[in-house]
Amino acid sequence: MPSRAHLVDTHGRTVRDLRISVTDRCNLRCTYCMPAEGMPWLPHEQILTYEEIVRIARVAVECGVTGVRLTGGEPTVRRELATLVRQLRALSPALDLSITTNGIKLAEMAAELREAGLSRVNISLDTLVRERFVQIARRDRLADVLMGIDAARRAGFAPIKINTVLMRGFNDDEIVSLAGWARDEGLELRFIEWMPLDFQQKWDREKLVSAAETHDAIHAVYPLEPEEGDDPSAPARPWRYCDGKGRVGFVGSVSNPFCGSCDRIRLTADGQVRTCLFALKEWDFRALLRGGADDGAIEQLMRDAVLRKQPGHLIGQAEFRQPERGMSSIGG
Ligand code: SAM
Ligand code: SF4
Repeated sequence: MPSRAHLVDTHGRTVRDLRISVTDRCNLRCTYCMPAEGMPWLPHEQILTYEEIVRIARVAVECGVTGVRLTGGEPTVRRELATLVRQLRALSPALDLSITTNGIKLAEMAAELREAGLSRVNISLDTLVRERFVQIARRDRLADVLMGIDAARRAGFAPIKINTVLMRGFNDDEIVSLAGWARDEGLELRFIEWMPLDFQQKWDREKLVSAAETHDAIHAVYPLEPEEGDDPSAPARPWRYCDGKGRVGFVGSVSNPFCGSCDRIRLTADGQVRTCLFALKEWDFRALLRGGADDGAIEQLMRDAVLRKQPGHLIGQAEFRQPERGMSSIGG
């Protein structure tokens, strides 16, 4: 039972999920996320310490948050990540503690993260073709990702989810082969629609491959049926293969938004809380913490932020404004 009242917004949604970006840095340069030269990285002193992150997470958990996901940038490039995992795990044995990673460093880190108390891993992979991987991530690291997936499996993570972003004319011809590969490997693939969150602001709706189209392409080869009784706030409505060979998900963030049941807030690496990926307003928790605030003040700012959580993103509407920060700096 949470020891503080739940975080509820004016649209009746209760916050259960906290995404924490632990760094804005990354060892890849995915074209839909970052420019080739990287970004002007945040100076060290602007990044929250682990102690500061855990303090905010603790208040959130006391307010009824049940899931914490570590992301970035690339979370595994932050030093001593297992230490943070251990400290977050100590908040609650029941906490659903997960990570979204490009997988490159999992070969060396998966076992340690598991031992530290991480519950789940999502690994991002958009192609199984080496040359394409180099084109999209601007680094020749496909083999490392595959080794990372293997290491996660050996460390005992299950299920392992794979996040794939499709772009028309680039990797949409791999929909079925990626699905076949994931089925054979016992991995749960989740296709995520490309969103207008790239730093370069080059998003082009024409290049978006919709969740429905992706579903249909797979269903034609590997018949699918809807999975019943899952969490309605989960962005990827799960489908299962009729032959019993696992599940696949389709995140229709743009074509079929799930904002009405969104239960998350985000904490950026520099200590700003955002109540939506597309929020234009941020709440400065770093200043609050470093100004000596007590837990009651942290809770109050969280409540103020959540109360103003926007009803939904406005992609495709005239009022839509792309946030200045890109995905890697917000925390995807
Ligand atoms: N570096 C880690 C990774 O790649 O998994 C974590 C951070 S990354 C920003 C989190 C997820 O966001 C990845 O699965 C990535 O593919 C996805 N992503 C990045 N930019 C995106 C965009 N513009 N639209 C949709 N998904 C995006
Ligand atoms: Fe790095 Fe992840 Fe962005 Fe790729 S999607 S550049 S791996 S933060």
